[in-house]
Amino acid sequence: MATAHVLTIEREALELPSEDGWAMHVPGPHARATCSCGLDTGWTPAARAHRTFDAHRSRHHHKVNTP
Ligand SMILES: [Zn+2]
Repeated sequence: MATAHVLTIEREALELPSEDGWAMHVPGPHARATCSCGLDTGWTPAARAHRTFDAHRSRHHHKVNTP
Protein backbone atom coordinates (compact mmCIF):
# COMPACT_ATOMS: atom_id res chain seq x y z
CA MET A 1 0.00 0.00 0.00
CA ALA A 2 1.49 3.27 -1.11
CA THR A 3 1.84 6.20 1.18
CA ALA A 4 -1.04 8.51 0.41
CA HIS A 5 0.43 11.69 1.73
CA VAL A 6 4.01 12.85 1.63
CA LEU A 7 3.94 16.48 2.70
CA THR A 8 6.77 18.78 1.80
CA ILE A 9 7.26 22.44 2.51
CA GLU A 10 9.98 24.43 0.87
CA ARG A 11 11.09 27.95 1.58
CA GLU A 12 11.79 30.40 -1.14
CA ALA A 13 15.44 31.35 -1.46
CA LEU A 14 16.46 34.72 -2.72
CA GLU A 15 19.86 35.25 -4.23
CA LEU A 16 21.23 38.59 -3.21
CA PRO A 17 23.21 40.24 -5.93
CA SER A 18 26.65 41.36 -5.02
CA GLU A 19 29.42 43.25 -6.68
CA ASP A 20 32.45 41.41 -5.41
CA GLY A 21 31.82 37.87 -6.59
CA TRP A 22 29.90 36.70 -3.57
CA ALA A 23 26.32 35.54 -3.75
CA MET A 24 24.11 34.81 -0.79
CA HIS A 25 20.90 32.88 -0.54
CA VAL A 26 18.53 34.14 2.10
CA PRO A 27 15.02 32.94 3.00
CA GLY A 28 12.42 34.74 0.95
CA PRO A 29 8.94 35.77 2.05
CA HIS A 30 7.25 32.89 0.29
CA ALA A 31 6.94 29.17 0.84
CA ARG A 32 5.26 26.34 -0.98
CA ALA A 33 3.54 23.31 0.48
CA THR A 34 3.10 20.25 -1.69
CA CYS A 35 1.82 16.77 -1.04
CA SER A 36 2.01 13.58 -3.01
CA CYS A 37 -1.81 13.51 -3.08
CA GLY A 38 -1.80 16.52 -5.37
CA LEU A 39 -1.90 19.42 -2.93
CA ASP A 40 0.17 22.31 -4.20
CA THR A 41 -0.17 25.78 -2.75
CA GLY A 42 2.25 27.29 -5.23
CA TRP A 43 4.49 30.05 -3.96
CA THR A 44 2.44 31.87 -1.39
CA PRO A 45 3.21 33.94 1.70
CA ALA A 46 5.09 31.68 4.10
CA ALA A 47 2.54 32.03 6.91
CA ARG A 48 -0.21 30.88 4.60
CA ALA A 49 1.80 27.95 3.26
CA HIS A 50 2.47 26.83 6.83
CA ARG A 51 -1.21 27.10 7.74
CA THR A 52 -2.16 24.99 4.73
CA PHE A 53 0.56 22.51 5.63
CA ASP A 54 -0.69 22.15 9.21
CA ALA A 55 -4.34 21.97 8.18
CA HIS A 56 -3.61 19.29 5.60
CA ARG A 57 -1.62 17.25 8.07
CA SER A 58 -4.24 17.41 10.81
CA ARG A 59 -6.97 16.57 8.35
CA HIS A 60 -5.32 13.32 7.36
CA HIS A 61 -3.76 12.20 10.58
CA HIS A 62 -5.28 11.48 13.91
CA LYS A 63 -4.19 13.88 16.55
CA VAL A 64 -2.40 12.40 19.47
CA ASN A 65 -3.92 13.60 22.68
CA THR A 66 -1.49 13.72 25.50
CA PRO A 67 -2.95 13.81 28.99
ZN1 LIG B 1 -2.02 14.96 1.03
